[in-house]
Amino acid sequence: MLLRQINNIAIGIFIASLIPLYILYLQPNYRALTFNLTINIQMKNTSNNKKIILLKKELDKVGIKYEETKGEYFPTYSQMHNRAAIIPQIVVSPCSDWGVARVLSLLTSLEIYENTSVSVRSGGHGYFNGASCDGIMINLSMMDNCDLNENIISLQPGCILGKIIYLLHQNNKALPHGDCFDVHAGGHFTTAGWDFILSKKYGLGCQHVESAKIVLWSGETLVVNEHSHPDILWSLKGGAAAEIGVVTELNLKVIEAPSTASWCLKLMSKNQLKVCVANKTFLKAHHLPREISVSFRIHFEPGYSEPMCSFNVFSLFSISETLKILRQELGETVVKIIENSDDWKTGSILDVRMITASDYLTETPEAISEVTSEKLRRSPLTYWEETSWKREMVDSYFTTLSSWSIPDCDQMFLDLINACEKIKDHPLKWRMYILTASGGAKIKEKRCSMELGEVLTRFELHWDEPNGEDEYYAKEFTEDINIIIQKYRDSGPKRIYRGDIWLAEQGYCEKLEKIKAKYSLSTNKISSHKLTCSSLVMR
Ligand SMILES: Cc1cc2nc3c(=O)[nH]c(=O)nc-3n(C[C@H](O)[C@H](O)[C@H](O)COP(=O)(O)OP(=O)(O)OC[C@H]3O[C@@H](n4cnc5c(N)ncnc54)[C@H](O)[C@@H]3O)c2cc1C
Repeated sequence: MLLRQINNIAIGIFIASLIPLYILYLQPNYRALTFNLTINIQMKNTSNNKKIILLKKELDKVGIKYEETKGEYFPTYSQMHNRAAIIPQIVVSPCSDWGVARVLSLLTSLEIYENTSVSVRSGGHGYFNGASCDGIMINLSMMDNCDLNENIISLQPGCILGKIIYLLHQNNKALPHGDCFDVHAGGHFTTAGWDFILSKKYGLGCQHVESAKIVLWSGETLVVNEHSHPDILWSLKGGAAAEIGVVTELNLKVIEAPSTASWCLKLMSKNQLKVCVANKTFLKAHHLPREISVSFRIHFEPGYSEPMCSFNVFSLFSISETLKILRQELGETVVKIIENSDDWKTGSILDVRMITASDYLTETPEAISEVTSEKLRRSPLTYWEETSWKREMVDSYFTTLSSWSIPDCDQMFLDLINACEKIKDHPLKWRMYILTASGGAKIKEKRCSMELGEVLTRFELHWDEPNGEDEYYAKEFTEDINIIIQKYRDSGPKRIYRGDIWLAEQGYCEKLEKIKAKYSLSTNKISSHKLTCSSLVMR
């Protein structure tokens, strides 16, 4: 009885609330407004669909490849490293400068930028997924030429690091760059290029860019160098080209390959780590010559139940010379931990690049010349050492952190090891690492469009199934790690390392925004600058 009464009251209130709406509906203006709104939305969708049909027709006419994915799948040649990346409706894959210019001209003349997002993908390895969007992805993986002429290496954006490693090796040249063979030149050499062996002395890969070709969103192509558009050249050195268009060629100055490389990756027990911490080893290592880079890496290693800290030394000196310097700078007690000759290796830069490679590739490093993006995905363990692949290279879901740390951060390693001990019984322990590298490539004499710190700390944790227990666990653990890393944060640099950003806004820089505004405005064929920029997912 009571229930029925409550029901009647509720129905009464509902009907009463409709009366003012009905009165409003009787007003001619309101009816016109709602009608117009519906028509506008319909027209917008229809005209947008028409624009896309026209775009496809034009692409067919000029023979530029595209694939309609309808937001359901990534074609294998345009996959993203982060499986959580949004899937585009259409993937357009030009294979030349001309093709890129043609695509961007079409997007401009058809006014597609106005209500469709557009993104640019080279290798899809950016952590923040800026290369993908829910509209049109311009995929550059088909533009994969690379060429070396004297001291300049010319790269198309779709060239993979694996191919670059081989070309440099063949010519006895070198360049600082990352260790994942499948990272592509387009994103890497405009935002990153940090490594263990060369970047402390020679700067980041992106700091080596000497000239480039870039197609503005309007379709206009610019040649960029010290004399022509030097502001864009600056933005290419770590500022993702200020998001003013699509980079179709990068020319970087290479160095002669160093004659010697030696390295030691020593797994330490917790007690050995305590010795390092007590001796302020990491802080002291920071003052080593630029030829010697030290990093500490925390991870789980097969055969050990506890988390391990690896004491990594990379040097451009011989082993004996390196140990002599380490003895002087770090002290005998610490060097005792790493002095065993079995822990040291010496070889070429090519050998250093193979540290995370499979046994097969380590023994036959020249086989890197055969590696392609597709093979790395189809048969990863032919090329990668399994544990490295699982915690870093594999396409998966993941959380990532990156922060500039203060050099005086030895205690952080003990805090991190203690935190990692808590996950030693969880299967996700195999899917993470925390790396802190001294000498974060802060080369003052080289221009760079990102502010660099002295020490770089980064963390990753991967899982395979979305929205499950693993994801929940991973996010909680990431938060624990973040709290520790933030305690040792270097508050000097205002932004994090550009190649590591995992949120688009972390790339924001006022100076880059000014460059973006300057070159977007010059594209007077685009009707509304504001609309264009906000509709672009390029960040
Ligand atoms: C497994 C892994 C290992 C890594 N190792 C290292 C390392 O050792 N050292 C290091 O410094 N960094 C490293 N990185 C970071 C990596 O170098 C950067 O994230 C880089 O930007 C990826 O480039 P990409 O072309 O593969 O990615 P993409 O996702 O295709 O590009 C990254 C960003 O650049 C934009 N972009 C790409 N190409 C162009 C273009 N031609 N024109 C204009 N904009 C473009 C994209 O829109 C996107 O916003 C690593 C990343 C991963 C996932």
